[in-house]
Parts: sequence; C-alpha cells; structure tokens
Amino acid sequence: MLQGLGTDRGLLVPQRIPTFEPDELESWRGLPFDKLANKVISKYLTDEDMSPDDLARITSASYGNQWRSSAVTPVETLPDGMHVLELHHGPTYAFKDVALQFLGNLFEHLLMKRHAEGLPHTITVVGATSGDTGSSAISGLRGKRGVEVFMMYPEGRTSPTQELQMITVLDENIHNIALKGTFDDCQAVVKSLFADSPFRQRVKLAAVNSINWARILAQTVYYVHAYLHVTEPGAAMSGRKVSFSVPTGNFGDILAGWYAKQMGLPVQQLIVATNENDILHRFFQKGDYSQKGVKETLSPSMDIQISSNFERYLFHAGGNDAHALNALMKRFEADGALSPSPELLAACRAEMDSERVDDAEVLATIAQVHEATGGTYTLDPHSAIAVAGARNYLRRADAAEKEVPMVALACAHWAKFAAAVGRAVGEESAAKLELPEALANLRGKPTRVSPLPNDVAAVREFIDKTLASRK
Ligand SMILES: *Cc1c(COP(=O)(O)O)cnc(C)c1O
Repeated sequence: MLQGLGTDRGLLVPQRIPTFEPDELESWRGLPFDKLANKVISKYLTDEDMSPDDLARITSASYGNQWRSSAVTPVETLPDGMHVLELHHGPTYAFKDVALQFLGNLFEHLLMKRHAEGLPHTITVVGATSGDTGSSAISGLRGKRGVEVFMMYPEGRTSPTQELQMITVLDENIHNIALKGTFDDCQAVVKSLFADSPFRQRVKLAAVNSINWARILAQTVYYVHAYLHVTEPGAAMSGRKVSFSVPTGNFGDILAGWYAKQMGLPVQQLIVATNENDILHRFFQKGDYSQKGVKETLSPSMDIQISSNFERYLFHAGGNDAHALNALMKRFEADGALSPSPELLAACRAEMDSERVDDAEVLATIAQVHEATGGTYTLDPHSAIAVAGARNYLRRADAAEKEVPMVALACAHWAKFAAAVGRAVGEESAAKLELPEALANLRGKPTRVSPLPNDVAAVREFIDKTLASRK
C-alpha cells in the first residue's frame, strides 16, 4: 500500500482474489456504504494485516459526512431506464474521491502503526496532475500525520476551478507547485525524482496515482453497492446479472469492476468506454494496442496514451504469467506497440467489450439527457461517454442482453466541466443550472502555491527545504 509500485517497476496484484457467495452478497443488502466497504475490503485482509476495528474506523472516516449524499454513491435512473451510478458526491466532485479519501486514512493508519513499532513513519507524496487527480489527492491527504504532499500542476493550464480547488487548501502538509511547463513536463519531473535513488530513499517517496492497488480495492465497493441497488432482493440467488459501462482512461476504474466480478459479483458485461484517445478500443476490437499522439477532447481526464492499469488486466488474462507479461511489456516499451497472441486477445475479450465516443456524440448525449429530463439532469462529458457507450453497446446486443440492467458510471459533476455543458445545452439553459456552492465559493478564498521553473533540481531543492522547515 505504501510502496505503490514494485521495485522492478512492475505493478503489484493480490496473490489471490477472495470470493463471496450469492447468499453472502444478499446478506449485505441495505448496508450503509462504509459497512459494505468493510465487508468487501476485509476479504483481502487477515486480522494480522489489520484488525476489524481499525478497518471499521478507516472506512467510517472515509465515507462519512464529507459526502454530500448519505448513500455516498447513489444510483439515479434516466427516462430510458438506464441507471447512472453517481460517483461525484465527494469533496472534490470527482470519482477519484472514493479511492483517495480511503487512501489518506489508510496511509495515516499504516504510518502510525509503524510509529508505534519504532519504524520510519513519514512519507513524501509527489504527484503531477492536469487538474482532477491533484485535488482529490490533496483532499484525501490534507492534515494526515506522517504525510507531506507536493502536487505539481502546469501553471495556467488547468481550469481556474481546478486550480482553486487545489491552492485554497491551506493545511501545512500540502504544498502546491505551479510549474512553468506542460503536464508532460510535470510528469517528467516526477519521474526523474523517482529515478533519483538517494533522493527517493531520503524523503521516502510515495505515489498516489492509480497504480496503487489500494485505490482499485476501494473502487470495487461501488460496483457491489450499485448491484444491490438496481436489483430486487434475492436477485443474486437466482443469478440475476448487471452490466456496467465505464469511462476509461488509466483503466483503474474498469479494472475494479473486473475484480468485483472475480470476487463473485454477478456481472454480465463490462464496457470499456473511451473518448477519441481510443488505444483501448482499438485493442478490444482489433488487437491493435499502438500509441498515437494524445488528442485534446472534452473529457480531459481520459486524454492519455498509455493505460497504466491495463498491464494488470493483461497479467490476469494471460493466466497470471509474470514472465510472459514482462516480455510483452518490454516489447511495448521498445516498439510503442503491443501485439497480443490470439489466445490473449480472446481471453481479454471474453470479459470486456468496448465502445469509442467522440466529442460530437458527447455533446449530443448531454443535450439529449438534459432535454429528456426537462432540464433536471445534467451529465458531465466523462459521464456522457459512459451513457453513450452503453447505448451504442445495447444497440448491437441480442434480446436477452438488452434485458440486463445497465449501469453507466458518472465520474464527475457537470459543474467541473461547465464550458462543455454550455456548448451542449446552449448558454441560456446552462445559465439556469445551479452551480454547487462549494465550487461557486472558491473565488476570493486565501491561497497558497509556489511557482517553480520547469527544472528537476529546483523542484528537488524546494522539496528538501520545505521538508527541513516542517521538522
Ligand atoms: C480519472 C477519471 C476517469 C478515468 O478513470 P480511470 O480509472 O483512469 O480509467 C474518467 N472520468 C473522470 C472524471 C476522471 O477523473
């Protein structure tokens, strides 16, 4: 959990995937989210790893009243019967809060346990963000004992709201850095810092990006939660299934759904919904996993080339063969393309299908849902990709599959992407939508941020100096 990445740069996976039976799943019906999280997460833990009381304390702190919905991840239903799993009721209005609220409390717990055992008990989290991950990580880690956070974003290249969400957090352990460069520059600086072994060990560098398996673990919970919400009591006993459509970038979210299915959740289909950066869609449809340049779209949180978590799926689909995966990933690093064997591709396709949704369809979907609900329901562009992907999938599905409840994952609140919503529904209609107070009130609040040049040495010096001043 604290290590994040394997020392050989490989990703960590669970040694075994625990399971639950349909009757156990049914017995969880009606549990509040934090209690359900205990049931699912404790499957991976022995009492020696963590006592049930400690886990209960962590989940109740992570899924408490910082959520604007008592359900934490409520499910709404659109006029056409499609369910929308709303994951954006957390502190930063994005789904990454589900995992990062948990991760913050988990880190603090593990560090304080080390403290009690007389072991080193501080870590330095350094991250790069193009906007959304940064504020979720900051919100999850603010004020946590033993954790210092340095979050780098490209100056002037996030939305003003995204920037304010980060720099209005004034906790002493949070250090925002506005780098004079692009998001890629920020990522390159982070990578260099991780490659600098003496520095890495000196400050106990840690990562909170989606390669941390604890994030995936936390996200499996809302798949179970959604299943229990859209099915009738007893559904699991009679094998009733549910399908999910997931807007996919780094493949973390959809992978969590796959783990939930392996654990025993009755899932019919998992749909990988991509934007125009469609490397995953090309893979699932044609076995073509080759990198192309990143295209800017209306769904910036999915504008990425390489899906870091996809490696985990390839590992499992290939029969948990670390040597075969290592060879495959080495070839990918060298060639920028990966050619799956027919068997591997078939294994991947047996568990997931894909859809690609372009910007025009995103705008049309936001407009259609807004219109069909009389202006009472607004999707953000990422959520619109889930809904459009699900609809396109169902159009080509057979009659039996059309009967299976479909859940589209809504990953961000529309207000974080208000410009796109304005384009979709027209500025006049958009002006009538009510901005959440917490986002509307950011302007004018005190801020704290350090502007730095795009230079690894300068960032390293800033981190060292700041850490020394915090001792
Ligand atoms: C991060 C993010 C995604 C993509 O999730 P992955 O786990 O990276 O696939 C989609 N939508 C929003 C709003 C996000 O913030």
